[in-house]
Amino acid sequence: MRTETPPTVRLEDYRPSDHLIDRVELDVRLDPHDTRVTARLAIRPNPAGRPGAALVLDGDDLRLVALDLDGEPLAPAAFRVAPSALTLPEPPQRPFTLTIETRLDPTANTKLMGLYRSNGVYCTQCEADGFRRITYFLDRPDVLAVYTTRIEADAAQAPILLGNGNNIESGRIEGTDRHFSVWHDPHPKPAYLFALVGGRLDRMTAPFTTMEGRAVELAVYVEPGKAERAAYALDAVARSMKWDEEVFGRAYDLDVFNVVAVSDFNMGAMENKGLNIFNDKYVLASPETATDADYAAIEAIIAHEYFHNWSGNRVTCRDWFQLCLKEGLTVFRDQEFSSDMRSRDVHRIGEVRTLRARQFPEDAGPLAHPVRPKQYAEINNFYTATVYEKGAEIVRMLRTLIGDTAFRAGMDRYFTDNDGTAATVEDFLCAFETESGRDLADFAEWYERPGTPRVSVSGAYDASQKTYRLDFRQTRPGAGADAPPVVIPVRLGLIGEAGPLDGATSPQVEDGVFVLDRPEASLTFENVTAAPVPSLFRGFSAPVRVDMAMADADRLTLLRHDTDGFNRWEAAQRVAARLTTGALRGEDTGAGAEAFAAALGAFLDERALADPAFAALVLALPSESDLADEIGIDIDPDAIFSARRALRVRLGAALGPRLRALRDALAEPAGTTFSPDAASAGRRALRNAALDLIAVADPAEGTALAGAQIASATNMTDRLAGLSTLALLPGEPRESALAAFAELYADEPLVLDKWFAIQAMIPEDGTVERVRRLQTHPAFAMTNPNRVRSLVGSFALANPTQFNRADGAGFALVAESVLALDRTNPQVAARLMTAFGPWRRLEPGRRAAADAALRRILATPGLSRDVADIAGRSLGDSLTV
Ligand SMILES: [Zn+2]
Repeated sequence: MRTETPPTVRLEDYRPSDHLIDRVELDVRLDPHDTRVTARLAIRPNPAGRPGAALVLDGDDLRLVALDLDGEPLAPAAFRVAPSALTLPEPPQRPFTLTIETRLDPTANTKLMGLYRSNGVYCTQCEADGFRRITYFLDRPDVLAVYTTRIEADAAQAPILLGNGNNIESGRIEGTDRHFSVWHDPHPKPAYLFALVGGRLDRMTAPFTTMEGRAVELAVYVEPGKAERAAYALDAVARSMKWDEEVFGRAYDLDVFNVVAVSDFNMGAMENKGLNIFNDKYVLASPETATDADYAAIEAIIAHEYFHNWSGNRVTCRDWFQLCLKEGLTVFRDQEFSSDMRSRDVHRIGEVRTLRARQFPEDAGPLAHPVRPKQYAEINNFYTATVYEKGAEIVRMLRTLIGDTAFRAGMDRYFTDNDGTAATVEDFLCAFETESGRDLADFAEWYERPGTPRVSVSGAYDASQKTYRLDFRQTRPGAGADAPPVVIPVRLGLIGEAGPLDGATSPQVEDGVFVLDRPEASLTFENVTAAPVPSLFRGFSAPVRVDMAMADADRLTLLRHDTDGFNRWEAAQRVAARLTTGALRGEDTGAGAEAFAAALGAFLDERALADPAFAALVLALPSESDLADEIGIDIDPDAIFSARRALRVRLGAALGPRLRALRDALAEPAGTTFSPDAASAGRRALRNAALDLIAVADPAEGTALAGAQIASATNMTDRLAGLSTLALLPGEPRESALAAFAELYADEPLVLDKWFAIQAMIPEDGTVERVRRLQTHPAFAMTNPNRVRSLVGSFALANPTQFNRADGAGFALVAESVLALDRTNPQVAARLMTAFGPWRRLEPGRRAAADAALRRILATPGLSRDVADIAGRSLGDSLTV
């Protein structure tokens, strides 16, 4: 454990490495407790570095066994060694070879960073700085080397040995039980992309031929006996490769592409060159164990990691401040892929829901930071919604501003000009400036400051002139008073009582987009034949909050007539949010709720069967956290829960007959084979959204319907939907259904995760005790990140009333779990802590309870740097900023 105050790393302090490493030859002799790593490093002074500088190689918890320079043992006076660094004060001023031997205990590595053993499988995780836990190295992304890796292990324990690149040699070691495999990766890469795997694994393979004619073997490796569950992931790899060729002109560049699923993994997946390592949750799928949402997530994450082969691996980041360069861009690319594979509108709504649920609160709280942070104490805490999701929105805005053709040309130029190097945000924008001829200096401001811009809009119709004027004003909470305006693309149109007002035009609107690049601006539409309703920020064209006073009736006109799918959905969300917040302020919202129900009824009659996935999203009202975010201050989660529930009860009652008819119409005929495709998933989604609303309005009917659905379900989507509905209805049927589910899936850890999560999200007083009880369940283990996230994470992040309990019992539960986990896996513990992010916006009583829990965590001796950093920043403590 580290207890010292961590040093702060600053972007402005960046300077090139004083040394470069051109080639790395690794020899890794795997053993559960005594793994030996020999690294031969071809080092030379960097012409861009400081002449004569000391060579300081990074380490973390390392034990040095031997050290040679050009084949000769180094005299003790010529170097200094500690677990955290190996220093040569006076290294040769010429190219030389350093050979370093270290020994590791992969079994004892519970941090799951570096080389570790998970369920008998050796694997690695090196991003952001795990490679320094394997050998001493210049562990920074701008040091790129060509790697050759020899892996050796007991042949029975680890019959499969995998490394980066292509396999060039393998064989038995005479007279022993051991074998070896040598892998060579011809593409220079930073150490964070290094990986190896050794273990007993089954595999499923498929051939792929790239557009350049290269024959590639695709393979997915999983736990023995589960190979058939890899089929969907394998197919997603092939579809991703094809899509990146067609849409971005990027082909794969090795002879094999391997994906390995492991059960203990700190994150979703990792894009190591040619050897992606995945949390098994994002690989394994069968109709009996995976939901439609799981299938969609597998497709998206497989694509994301594959797309990194160009956006991240071939062109990497100069330093970790540029993390958005690979993550924001790659999220944008995987979102585009999923939109092409599924429904674009439905996918866009999902992206925005995620952004609003995770990034907006982050940007409004104590953990807010720019998309390109200026400083950090622990880089592992910056793999955030801001870097990923807001980073992706910036790329999307860039495309909106310069158009599809210049955007594609700019991407080509970025990849070509920076291939094999470590780039910056400036390099990225430069490629688009060159191709579009547009100055992007003002646009770059999006990367520099935290805070979600707010755009206030007002409209005025002049019937005599047939003109409609819109006034825009932008502000940036959290960005500082001196912050210049940002460039905001506003995609917009006008809608009338009977449909789009296509004849209305404005010289300031080009291809449907108005660019708001000043603090205040106006635009005027001409030839507006009737009083219009503006449809603003179509497709969510910028990650901003929009304030515009608009009558519910006008919003319902958008729900009915807008040609933009996102804004039709948004209109219903806005009305529901206004009704809920109005009720919280004590307004009588009865008539409004009635009109809303009538509009939803008409919408369902018109479109539900034509586009069930979209209809399901319209029926899902803003979440409790969306509403909390909207209210902003003095939040009382119990009051929000009750007001939201009351609206749902009214809608469920008013729409009941329609919802029952929809359930019947959407039921699959007996004997239908399960398919995870978007259309089938959409029908299931609407059917289950209908069940949810029926149940909230009529618990007895809901209990019966959910029970019947659980009993007759032929796939996990429907079974889990039934169980989720039942989980909200207290009583014996719920408890026996939960018990039966646990028994049925006792041997399926990933399904038990769903069972843990459902119970952790029950919005009732008994849930804290239930979670404590479940923490002692035989299937729960603090050593497995998926179990922790499903139980404690779901409670902390997806149960607003119970996590934020007025008596502080929810905060105490999470604080205790964080402290227990911090001893073994600080990275996952720190992620749990982010649930405290919005604490300052709670009402005073809860705020005091959260403050006390955070202070208790921060005062705990021996706290990891990861958790201390989040706790300190959450409290606004300058100590660890
Ligand atoms: Zn990524």
